[in-house]
Amino acid sequence: PVRQPVDVNRLVEETLQFLENEALHRNIRIHVERDPSAPEVVSDGAQLQQVLLNILNNAIDAVGRDGQVWVTTQFDPAAREVRVQVADSGPGIPSEILGKIFDPFFTTKKLGSGTGLGLSICHSILTNLGGRIEAANRAEGGAVFTVSVPVNDLRA
Ligand code: ADP
Ligand code: MG
Repeated sequence: PVRQPVDVNRLVEETLQFLENEALHRNIRIHVERDPSAPEVVSDGAQLQQVLLNILNNAIDAVGRDGQVWVTTQFDPAAREVRVQVADSGPGIPSEILGKIFDPFFTTKKLGSGTGLGLSICHSILTNLGGRIEAANRAEGGAVFTVSVPVNDLRA
C-alpha cells in the first residue's frame, strides 16, 4: 500500500476544486470548516481523494438545486484519527436502506445515473487504509458521512 504524508485539509480544498463548477451551476453552497490542528496522516492521498469525491458527488446529487453541503475536518488526538464529515441538506437516507448503501451495486438512482459502486469502493478503500466510513442522518434532516483516517507514523 502507498504510505505518504497527506494533509487532509489541503486534500479537501483540492477535491472541492473539482466540484466548484458543478456546485455553482446548481447553486449549491459548500461550506468548509477545517481543524487547523489536524496533523498530516500517513496514507494514500489518491485513494482518499477518490473517497472524498464519491461522497461529495453523492451529497451534490442528494441536495439538488439550491442545496447546501457542509464539509468539516476534525482531529481526534485521543483516537489519533483525522476525520472528514460531509453533511448535506438533502432528504437523508431512509432507515430501511441504511444497512445496504455500502453494498456493491446498491443504488436508488435511476437507470444510467448511478452504478451503486461509489460507497462500496469508499468502504474497501477505508478498510485497506485502516480507517472507516460511517453513514447517518442529521437531526435537522439530510445525510452525514464520516470518514476516519488513522494518523499513523511514517517510521512505523
Ligand atoms: P450511486 O451514487 O451510484 O447510487 P453509491 O454507492 O455512491 O452509488 O450510493 C449508494 C446509494 O446510497 C445511493 O443510490 C443513495 O440511495 C444512497 N446515498 C448515498 N449518499 C447519499 C446522500 N448524501 N443522501 C441520501 N442518500 C445517499
Ligand atoms: Mg455515488
